[in-house]
Amino acid sequence: MAERDEAAEPVIKRAKVAPTRTGRVRQARRIYRELGDVYPYAHPELDFENPFELLVATVLSAQTTDLRVNQTTPALFAKYPTPEDLAAANPEEVEELIRPTGFFRAKTRSIMGLSKALVENFGGEVPRTLEELVTLPGVGRKTANVVLGNVFGVPGITVDTHFQRLVRERWKWTAESEPEKIEAVVAEMFPRKDWTELSHRVIFHGRRICHARKPACGACPIAALCPSYGVGETDPEKARKLLKYEKGGFPGQRLKPPPDYPGIPAAPQGTV
Ligand code: SF4
Repeated sequence: MAERDEAAEPVIKRAKVAPTRTGRVRQARRIYRELGDVYPYAHPELDFENPFELLVATVLSAQTTDLRVNQTTPALFAKYPTPEDLAAANPEEVEELIRPTGFFRAKTRSIMGLSKALVENFGGEVPRTLEELVTLPGVGRKTANVVLGNVFGVPGITVDTHFQRLVRERWKWTAESEPEKIEAVVAEMFPRKDWTELSHRVIFHGRRICHARKPACGACPIAALCPSYGVGETDPEKARKLLKYEKGGFPGQRLKPPPDYPGIPAAPQGTV
């Protein structure tokens, strides 16, 4: 039996957590830059054509994958393309259309409620401020920041489950556990102009390499910068098998990804 060639494997040591705030900011910005090389095409992974579609898709994405939402929304938006249409819909028909995303009764209440509020309070347009967006049913800071950052060019940090896990547990940027406090700490570490892109890069990394249960440390391009290197699989060959989406050679989450996406588009519902 061939002996394992230890010398061929890269020797990576866990990075130390910097003792000062300045040091931690420097480390965090370095990770951000390196992730830019790994995911130069990072983008929101919900399909949308306009602010209303992104708002509804983001509400539907709670407790499910973006892929599932992307496979569900084409039929929904074909039938109800505007807030006026969705506000006047038959709730049972909406429930049936969005059933695959789970929690479909509550989500129907939210998307119909927010459509009514858009019509009644905002002239049928999606508002452009966080304060106004969070007045809509089912819309919290996270959803508001997704919309602001991706359709209105207003920088926003999206603290979802991946973002929390990576910046808190894996990279130790903060010990805070509440999303709003994490958002505030991270906002202080980066220039405002980088907030939306930072969110994309971190979430991309969490979905492809730094997974919740089996992080692929041995195939991670930022391993040398990470204070948690070794919490996951370190054998490069085994780690490579854990990679997802385009990094593993699989389809992505969007049926209509941006033109620079190097992976394979996701398949429509019913074809997989
Ligand atoms: S995959 Fe491992 S090395 Fe890479 S960021 Fe996550 S914990 Fe760190």
